[in-house]
Amino acid sequence: MPLYEYRCKECGEVVEFRSSMADKEKMAASLQCSSCGSAKLTQVFSGIALTSDSKSAASSPPPPSGGCCSGGMCNLQ
Ligand SMILES: [Zn+2]
Repeated sequence: MPLYEYRCKECGEVVEFRSSMADKEKMAASLQCSSCGSAKLTQVFSGIALTSDSKSAASSPPPPSGGCCSGGMCNLQ
């Protein structure tokens, strides 16, 4: 069964409950803050990752070819 988290809008207390998808709305409607008793609760979606996996691979540009020999000076030893 999925776990749902609701945060009290009055005092910030987080109330958790497990319920089937079918009973979730019913449960949420009768939910009360365990701290202050307020029924003003808003669901917290803690399981959803806000960060995307699309790591824009900052592929470093290839090193400039040649190095010190690019000018042909290294041949003059
Ligand atoms: Zn509360």
